[in-house]
Amino acid sequence: MRTYDEVYRKSVEEPEAFWGAEAERLHWFKRWDRVLDDSKAPFTRWYPGGKTNLCYNALDRHVLAGRGDRPAVLWESPEAGGSRILTFRELYGEVNRFSAVLQGLGVNKGDRVLVYLPMVPEALTAVLACVRIGAVHSVVFAGFSVESLAHRIEDSGSRVVVCADGGLRKGKPIDLKGIVDRAIAQAQTRVERVIVLDRGVVPWAPVPGRDVRWDEAMAKVGDVEVPALPLDAADPSYILYTSGTTGKPKGVVRDTGGYMVALHTSMDLVYGCTPDDVYWSTSDIGWVVGHSYIIYGPLLYGIPTLVYEGTPDSPHPGIWWETIAKHRVSVLFSAPTAMRMLRKFPASWIEGHDLSSLRHVFLAGEPLDEPTYTWASETLKKPVIDHYWQTESGWPMITNHMGLRPLPVKPGSPTREAIGWKLDVVDERGEPVPRGQRGYLVAHPPLPPGALQTLWGDDERFVESYWKYFARHGKRFYFSGDYAIKDEDGYYWLLGRADEVINVAGHRMGTREVEEVISGHPGVAEVSAIGVDDEIKGQAIAAFVVLKKDVHDTPELHGEIVRLIRDSIGPIATPKVLRVVPRLPKTRSGKVMRRVLRAICEEKALGDLSTIEDGASVDEVRRALDELGGSAPAGR
Ligand code: AMP
Repeated sequence: MRTYDEVYRKSVEEPEAFWGAEAERLHWFKRWDRVLDDSKAPFTRWYPGGKTNLCYNALDRHVLAGRGDRPAVLWESPEAGGSRILTFRELYGEVNRFSAVLQGLGVNKGDRVLVYLPMVPEALTAVLACVRIGAVHSVVFAGFSVESLAHRIEDSGSRVVVCADGGLRKGKPIDLKGIVDRAIAQAQTRVERVIVLDRGVVPWAPVPGRDVRWDEAMAKVGDVEVPALPLDAADPSYILYTSGTTGKPKGVVRDTGGYMVALHTSMDLVYGCTPDDVYWSTSDIGWVVGHSYIIYGPLLYGIPTLVYEGTPDSPHPGIWWETIAKHRVSVLFSAPTAMRMLRKFPASWIEGHDLSSLRHVFLAGEPLDEPTYTWASETLKKPVIDHYWQTESGWPMITNHMGLRPLPVKPGSPTREAIGWKLDVVDERGEPVPRGQRGYLVAHPPLPPGALQTLWGDDERFVESYWKYFARHGKRFYFSGDYAIKDEDGYYWLLGRADEVINVAGHRMGTREVEEVISGHPGVAEVSAIGVDDEIKGQAIAAFVVLKKDVHDTPELHGEIVRLIRDSIGPIATPKVLRVVPRLPKTRSGKVMRRVLRAICEEKALGDLSTIEDGASVDEVRRALDELGGSAPAGR
């Protein structure tokens, strides 16, 4: 096995040689002129001149190589009480038909198609059909509300929406079609067509002239072949919205060629996969992990991907282990939250299942605390790999590489830079901080293939959000938004977000987003939302509300605010704490002292008051705490 140091060094010192060789492993209709064009930094382009297609590489390539009869999708749905296996050839057939359906509805190269589907094989069909014909998919997690969906329809300018009649959560139907109808009515842009997958979950009636039934449309096109369109490496493959520091979610744009190569490379070098493996990412196709490791990574690599519709504890808390044994899963990718949840149940739910196929358990999305790490590795008796990345990066930035000689594990650290990523920890002015000290986690350009290209329709915001922060000190870095420490051995330790973004069960939420919704309530004068510790979810939302004069703090009011959030963002944004306060603790310059709010919620002492980041004086903090009835600050 090659060593990490050897391969990593090559990847960052000779990126063109390294990524050129990696790209050779995939199919290109036309070879690239150059591996890397960084002349318009930070708008880095990989493989300019090259023409390829993600769908061709994920399906056609395997079918043509005689691997068509191997399973591609292993669908398990404890929710629907069903399971299904599709081979690469069968998925190829479905995708070709759906490509024809899309084309028949006038979808052309560059058009955006919004996908609002639960965890069903058709979600993969829809996504792959889009990239096959050069359409740009915008998958929205089918748990987002009407308003979130409407915003994404508008921002992406999607004229076609693909949805199902309904989803299922713990047996409860979710009216997805109803949400789509209302979002379309609310959006300022026009949706011309809606393709509805009828699962028989929720009764619905088609809107004449607009709605198309999935099964009818597929039957009508019959057995067709739609050639995969040769696309420029830089052509966008998808938009994926994520929360940022401002209220409006950001539409992360991914390219075609760079993303394809990065994911393919990560499958063997990071995840240590071999062609006989079975891959299971327990995420949802609505998140970046789902895009990269439910859909593209495993299929590009030619191995089956397990698509799971359900929760870890339903119908019983042994269901995941049962599923692993049933499908002989070799690599599991999940989130610390899921492990914390499963840890609550007796180990007898795990024992008795044959987990001999399972080689590695990867976790990401939020910090992996040491007790959870220890529990998972001791109970499963498998290497547990914490790795760090973001919607923007598209694939891991910090990891232990299971396809290279593994480095010793330090529980609590996701280890070292992933191949291709040149990271650093710097201070306010962009100067590297000494090892062992906290600073901002940044990446040196050019970012490797797979990383975001821009924000949809907003190059300026892309520069502003990720590249401006240190530019004022003459430094060119991508800013991750996270605090980190790099230790003596070059290991990274993540310390949470440096911005106003929080992480609830591995899902990113902007506190500003939550605040904007709550301040829309007619009784609310002012609001501040923060992230607080949560035993299972890692973090949860706490909202502090100041009411308008003559508005009273009643259970009904709390109910209204919670409903507003659930309707505007989705149930995942429901606050754990909602507290009405007489005023928000603020510094003289008017900044909310979030640390004071956090201390109150977590009933923690404040520690050294002089290090308050928002610049409040010790007296101000004390006064605010007294007024709001918080815990007495420790220290000075
Ligand atoms: P998202 O874009 O929703 O995937 O969220 C990315 C953010 O999740 C990062 O910026 C980190 O704050 C956090 N994150 C992801 N993976 C890890 C990890 N392994 N350890 C600590 N934080 C993580």
